[in-house]
Amino acid sequence: MPENPNSKIQNIEPNLVSGLALWQWREQAQQQAIASQVPIVEIDWLLQEISDIDRLSLRLESFKDRDFISLQIPFVELACLWEQRIRDRRPIQYLVGRTPWRNLLLQVSPAVLIPRPETELLIDLAIAAIENHPDLQQGHWADLGTGSGAIALGLANALPYAVIHAVDVSADALAIAQQNAEFLGWSDRIQFYQGSWFEPLGHLRGELCGMVSNPPYIPSALITDLQPEVARHEPHLALDGGEDGLDAIRLLVAIAPRYLRSGGIWLIEMMAGQAQPVVNLLKSNGRYQNIQVYKDLAGIDRFVLAHRIA
Ligand code: GLN
Repeated sequence: MPENPNSKIQNIEPNLVSGLALWQWREQAQQQAIASQVPIVEIDWLLQEISDIDRLSLRLESFKDRDFISLQIPFVELACLWEQRIRDRRPIQYLVGRTPWRNLLLQVSPAVLIPRPETELLIDLAIAAIENHPDLQQGHWADLGTGSGAIALGLANALPYAVIHAVDVSADALAIAQQNAEFLGWSDRIQFYQGSWFEPLGHLRGELCGMVSNPPYIPSALITDLQPEVARHEPHLALDGGEDGLDAIRLLVAIAPRYLRSGGIWLIEMMAGQAQPVVNLLKSNGRYQNIQVYKDLAGIDRFVLAHRIA
């Protein structure tokens, strides 16, 4: 039997691996990724998270020549993690425990939805909408259904004079959001509340400059058709929008006018096909104006922004 180049090292220090053994593991992981239609870049993402190997030495494969590479986890555990990615379709972001989002690095766990690239645009839309309204840049803003805290943190970053209020019904999600705020040093910029939508914000009636939300919007019957990464691992609480997907959005349309000040911003993310029903809900409510639909980078109608009538 050929000698396992790693066996001697493993006996001494399970977190040390030879460059050659790691290269061999990567080759095999890449084959599995291709066969299972998992993006192969995720292997290098994982390797960069658990070692000091940089992108260039991954690309040139020069790490192969190193005698020892120190991992943050035992080598055998790396294989177990990758097994979960391939066999259980566990998202890479949950395996590494964090994800980049806008200019931030956010901790995530299965208690929170993994912040998506398209959701990054919500912050840009909010910034653009208040560009010529200095009064809206400094007051109270709410992120309803904050999850990992991504939107609240994006707003805190973009609006240095605003106070952000982040609400989630899940205590586990809120704990992640608070850790993210602490890690970024913005705990004093964001107030966290456990509760349902506007419920904990009674003290802010008529005061909000803006309400931003990425609510659950997938129709219940479609959840099982989503990618297995989403359907099996992400919290259904953050995805399931009821029979037509619009339960949460209907509530936000109905309640927000009591909380927004005149001219205040109402801004949400939604799924393909929901633009017209959401616009209709806002119009028939009668307390919104300048209702606009915006596309995401894939060209899908993804966001609706409106102002509370003055
Ligand atoms: N964009 C998410 C998805 O595609 C859904 C997020 C949500 O329901 N708010 O799975």
